Amino acid sequence: MAVILDGNALAKSIKKDIKIQINKMAQPPGLAVIIVGDNPASRIYVDHKKKDCQACGITSREHALAKDIGQDQLLALIDELNQDTEVHGILVQSPLPDGYNSQEVFQRISPQKDVDAFHVNSAGGILRGEYSFLPCTPAGVIALLDHYKIDLVSKHCVVVGHSNIVGKPMAMMLLNRNATVTICHIHTADLAAHTKQADILICAVGKINLITADMVKPGAVVIDVGINRTETGICGDVDFGAISQIASHITPVPGGVGPMTRAMLMLNTLRSAQNYM
Ligand code: NAP
Repeated sequence: MAVILDGNALAKSIKKDIKIQINKMAQPPGLAVIIVGDNPASRIYVDHKKKDCQACGITSREHALAKDIGQDQLLALIDELNQDTEVHGILVQSPLPDGYNSQEVFQRISPQKDVDAFHVNSAGGILRGEYSFLPCTPAGVIALLDHYKIDLVSKHCVVVGHSNIVGKPMAMMLLNRNATVTICHIHTADLAAHTKQADILICAVGKINLITADMVKPGAVVIDVGINRTETGICGDVDFGAISQIASHITPVPGGVGPMTRAMLMLNTLRSAQNYM
């Protein structure tokens, strides 16, 4: 049976450390979260972030905007928050409703307050290994691997999914740690041929059971980023039951990458505030 990489426990201890550091600060860090419309999944994510802020001593400020507020008003709010000295991090919950230009919205956030690291400055910084903020999900994966002392140097890491938010930065961060990286996506001709080569397999797609046991090398480390909603709760992209029998390490869903993503957001907000003070 594989070692379970416990994201809940590690995230809890990271948040405890953040709180200790914040208790020593003259002014608490502030995180502004903008939510547009009434997407139920977005509401859950925003509520979780609020709870994390409370646990860490970060002041959270929610801006809940009507679905039809419009691009201009949203950009005007971001401009205001960019100038607000009590706000150290700005996050716009995605996905935005249809009709919004998400890229324009993400680029409007000051790179100094870009705690989600979606700005092109942040993306470019990762390419060069010079950055203020790392995107929370891939950063959470790396923190989990480091915590369990899973060495990355010379390992063959296969990343499935090439989104700008998860797959691409994940691959670049693994490369920056001297792993050999393969990136797979929807057009990859023979996915299993690649995944079977992986010492460390990271799946970030959003498709239940995309990765089955026959696609995994025995002894591999398997990181499941995917979140799929079912009638009984959430599950990931990998067949956890069968793969946990052959992998050396595996993340559960829930309780793996998700809590680590949230902890990294808190860490980015703390770092942003420390940069200001
Ligand atoms: P996304 O933007 O939808 O990207 C999905 C990626 O998977 C795309 O690169 C897509 O390729 C690729 N893909 C789709 N079907 C595939 C297939 N059959 N084989 C190989 N690749 C395939 O999603 P995302 O934002 O990266 O998120 C990925 C998953 O992680 C989602 O389930 C999301 O909910 C979850 N997630 C979890 C956390 C967390 O904290 N645990 C955080 C963020 C995201 P194309 O673009 O070419 O279609």
